[in-house]
Amino acid sequence: MYQKGRAWIELNLENLAHNVKQFQSLLPAQCMLMPAIKANAYGHGAVIIGQALEEMGITDFCVASVSEAVELRNAGITGRILVLGYTSPRQFAELVRYRLTQTVIDLAYARQLHDFGAMLEVHVGIDTGMHRLGERSDRLDRILKIWEFKNLNITGVFSHLCVSDGVVDTERDYTLQQIASFHAVVDALHRNGIFGFKTHMQGSYGVLNYPGLQFDYARIGIALYGAYSLPRHQTVVTPCLKPVLSLKSRVECVKPLHTGESIGYGLTFTASDEMQIAAVSIGYADGIPRELSNKGRVLVNGCHAPMIGRICMDQLLIDVTGFPRISAGDEVVLIGSSREREIFASDVADCADTISNEILSRLGSRLERVLEVPLPCA
Ligand SMILES: *Cc1c(COP(=O)(O)O)cnc(C)c1O
Repeated sequence: MYQKGRAWIELNLENLAHNVKQFQSLLPAQCMLMPAIKANAYGHGAVIIGQALEEMGITDFCVASVSEAVELRNAGITGRILVLGYTSPRQFAELVRYRLTQTVIDLAYARQLHDFGAMLEVHVGIDTGMHRLGERSDRLDRILKIWEFKNLNITGVFSHLCVSDGVVDTERDYTLQQIASFHAVVDALHRNGIFGFKTHMQGSYGVLNYPGLQFDYARIGIALYGAYSLPRHQTVVTPCLKPVLSLKSRVECVKPLHTGESIGYGLTFTASDEMQIAAVSIGYADGIPRELSNKGRVLVNGCHAPMIGRICMDQLLIDVTGFPRISAGDEVVLIGSSREREIFASDVADCADTISNEILSRLGSRLERVLEVPLPCA
């Protein structure tokens, strides 16, 4: 039996399958999932997640870079993989070798891809208002020129929403304008005799807030992992999503702290009473934001314990005053449940003034990733 060490991630693949089914039943029948498994599958482990999704029948994936795609191919993933970001011309050979689909960033980039000389499969990015990647949707002349490059096998056209997580009027108006601009580009392509390409523009919140849109793919990331970007994020549809990841560590030692004593780097916390504290074997090198110093909390034996003092590279300190029977080796839950209580990735994110996407994607390579063994039914 696997012995879990100092700090680890537990993955619940049944919850992943559950979330996949939730989104498949939410989306229009012809719309397929294209899970975003970039950034090591948002910290979950790209190979484990990719293989699990492929076993569930998923045939399309998206990642940020060629190296992420190559890792998946080397692990036996055979489905289509779209590289969402920039690929240097020095890596174009890998696009061919590993059968990858590349994003066309703009007209100039299309020419670079064409000049490589080999046939490349691509999806054309359209900028409908985020102003990141993509040829501007109001430059139809330039968009149409992309179809003149003979070495591009264009199988998709896509855009990206930038305020689809917001539900106030200005955000909804902006998103609806983005959707309209994208439809206008697709219609114009059709009028010019260009057909046979797939369309997509929704990420997680694009689906959760605009579920009825008729596209061919939905590029879902964070929500597929059962996490919301922020706690109690309001959405138009509210599927039952279950967290895939738990983050756990261990108590290294327990000791008293006397009134007036201070702790940790910078001595940023001082005991105003007699206390009992514990050191935990996880730190900012594992992805726990230093921002959580004196702010975050963990679960030990079903009870909340505040983080005190500065978070260190490999360890952190917690207040376990009044905790009965706590001892070295006890499990500490940073994300996940302990008895009746649960800490969500979005709670950690909120406390650190960021979103769960950042918290999860920065979980360190030093963490072991293990499959949660379902407990036998009581
Ligand atoms: C990361 C990413 C996604 C997934 O976004 P989520 O909000 O995590 O669902 C979709 N599309 C693009 C272009 C992305 O970069």
